[in-house]
Amino acid sequence: MSTGWRADSSEVIGSALARLGIAADGEAFVRALAARAPVGVFLADRLGNCLYANDRMRELTGLQLAQMLGTGWREALHPDEAGSILTGWAAAIRGGSAFVQAQRYVRPRGDVVWVEKTVSPIHNAEGDLTGWAGVCVDVTDRHESEKRYHDLVENARDAIYTADPTGRLLSANRAAEEVSGYSREELLGMSLFDLIAPEELERAGELLARALAGFGGETIEMELLAKDGHRIWAEARYRAVEENGQIVRFEGIARETTERHTLQEQLSHQAFHDQLTGLPNRALLVDRLGHALAGAERLGKRVAVMLLDLDNFKLVNDSLGHDVGDSLLGAIAPRLLESVRTGDTVARLGGDEFAFVVESFRDERELADLAKRIVDAFERPFEAGGGVHRVTASLGIAVAHGGETAAGVLRNADTAMYSAKAARRGGFELFDDGMRRRLVRELELRDGLADAIEKEALELYFQPILSLADGGVLALEALVRWPHPEWGWVQPTEFIPVAESDRLIVSLGRFVLGQAIARAADWHACYPGALPLGVFVNVSPTELAAPDFVHFVASTLETHGLASDRLGIEVTERVFIGERDRQAGDSLAALAEMGVRISLDDFGTGYSALASLKRFPFTALKIDRFFIRAIRGPEDEAPISRAIVSLGRSLGLTVIAEGVETAVQAERLRRLGCDAAQGFHFARPQPAAAVAAYLEEPRARVRTAAG
Ligand code: C2E
Ligand code: CA
Ligand code: CA
Repeated sequence: MSTGWRADSSEVIGSALARLGIAADGEAFVRALAARAPVGVFLADRLGNCLYANDRMRELTGLQLAQMLGTGWREALHPDEAGSILTGWAAAIRGGSAFVQAQRYVRPRGDVVWVEKTVSPIHNAEGDLTGWAGVCVDVTDRHESEKRYHDLVENARDAIYTADPTGRLLSANRAAEEVSGYSREELLGMSLFDLIAPEELERAGELLARALAGFGGETIEMELLAKDGHRIWAEARYRAVEENGQIVRFEGIARETTERHTLQEQLSHQAFHDQLTGLPNRALLVDRLGHALAGAERLGKRVAVMLLDLDNFKLVNDSLGHDVGDSLLGAIAPRLLESVRTGDTVARLGGDEFAFVVESFRDERELADLAKRIVDAFERPFEAGGGVHRVTASLGIAVAHGGETAAGVLRNADTAMYSAKAARRGGFELFDDGMRRRLVRELELRDGLADAIEKEALELYFQPILSLADGGVLALEALVRWPHPEWGWVQPTEFIPVAESDRLIVSLGRFVLGQAIARAADWHACYPGALPLGVFVNVSPTELAAPDFVHFVASTLETHGLASDRLGIEVTERVFIGERDRQAGDSLAALAEMGVRISLDDFGTGYSALASLKRFPFTALKIDRFFIRAIRGPEDEAPISRAIVSLGRSLGLTVIAEGVETAVQAERLRRLGCDAAQGFHFARPQPAAAVAAYLEEPRARVRTAAG
């Protein structure tokens, strides 16, 4: 319990000494205390000459009392401190006031002792300074741990620093010097902000404000500026140090992460860019488009996506090799970048497909101008693989209002692009409502068709192919029909392309082949002399490329007992474009080997080289009805039909004219030397039951059967 004592300690000691019967000068007391104290005690005269030292003092210095007296004690001083310590003493003596001093003694055995020395003046009754009383405490342990700590900081691999609340550096270790390139003297005059890259200053200021507001202990990564101007990435952890409720300094530890950062940047660049062109890839485009769409919805703006696809790039790859194809793509990328404006994104989606995201445009006019500029960029040829190449591209544009998904907008742009491709090479098209309707229709058709194939609800019609020499029926072409319960008759021109864009064409084709072969077998059994060239079936490239196609044909023929030369297949020039080329060629060769007849359909509309005519085992050529329609009078020059007829004959092929609608055309073709014809002039495609009538006579004549 407190007694409320407020007395001066010297009065207390006086009364205490008196009660203990110790003389007022306290000599006995001092003796007793000094002898037993666990600290060094000494007495010195005014000038610092030692007059007395207790046992502990002698232990601390390692000297005998006799050696210590006078100025002898200085022998114990560590050589490094002798000078400074003496000047300290000198100052203290002049001032005559108490002082605390740290000192190192070296004992005769060589070991060092750190002491903290507290020295108080002694005054006589008149108040004159007569001498000094000193107390020395051994602080070697504390000193060593401080030194260890200092060494640890100094030699740390991480930069360690302290800074005042404004960011001015108070201390920095060697690693801080190494990382920054500044010397310690320079660093201590600087602010942390002098070391931060200009773009990061704002963020750094915010972080400092946060720390001052008491949010601390954060780990941050920041770009710094070294003395020589080069940039470094560093990760720093720091905390604010409080004293009496106030932030007095920051302590921080920072580590250079430049290498890790660069690697991360490279990796993320690789993940989001196309290696070949360096352009953003599909993932990055979809990401940016997603952001653009979200922004557009918020701001009530519009975003346009353009999809660009090179025309016939497959041919380049197939004929010149992939290396040339790659270097061509590499040459195209910068041209695309040149044609867009800053702010537009150009990406490579893969293959020969590129996409643009256009975030700021006034109206469709402006988009069309941009699209034209992009398409026009293909007018100049490209240098690639040591050669000069001309390519054209088709561009589809879709405009979004922000509510759509990135995938949806890309799909619309894709639809528009295909429509541009179909319309004309090297053009662009804007996705519109008409396209949307066609798209919906296409989806409906696809579903309905899958259903119809499964239910075998398709029907075959047959159109006779006649000899122009004598009007005899040489063959029947099977043409598929789809009677839909709601839509009525759906035309193959509408549903075949839909089936071809899907694997549906394969099952559709097998249904048609199965039916056609079955009918042909029936007719052959009933009218053995009829149809010398058999039944012709149209086959799509996808069907032909299916590896088991030949096997399917062979086994179906066998099932129905039909000789293979009673079957003909019609293929178009499209068969020779693209990667299916080889497999299709193999199938054709195998079928020809079996004796199946092969006609090249729609001849003249595609762009197959004449070489493929010789390379593949065709037996007939069909002149497209586009050229037949051009024949208007009995003396018409009909240059193309004439050329095709002579080409076919020179290759030993049967030449068949399609879409013959008038007697004039039939007669003109006969005089040109065309072998056979089919068309509304002779007969329309009709159901199996109706065509049987033409087969009853071996040399059926259908010249008048048109209608
Ligand atoms: P295609 O192979 O060129 O078939 C001839 C088309 O011309 C048929 O149209 C036929 O009805 C029509 N045609 C015949 N004579 C005349 C004429 O005098 N004037 C006019 N303007 N047209 C005539 P269809 O039946 O509509 O078939 C269209 C196309 O659909 C066919 O063209 C063929 O490429 C494809 N196709 C039809 N059936 C099949 C099939 O079973 N499989 C495959 N893969 N495609 C088929
Ligand atoms: Ca045909
Ligand atoms: Ca045709």
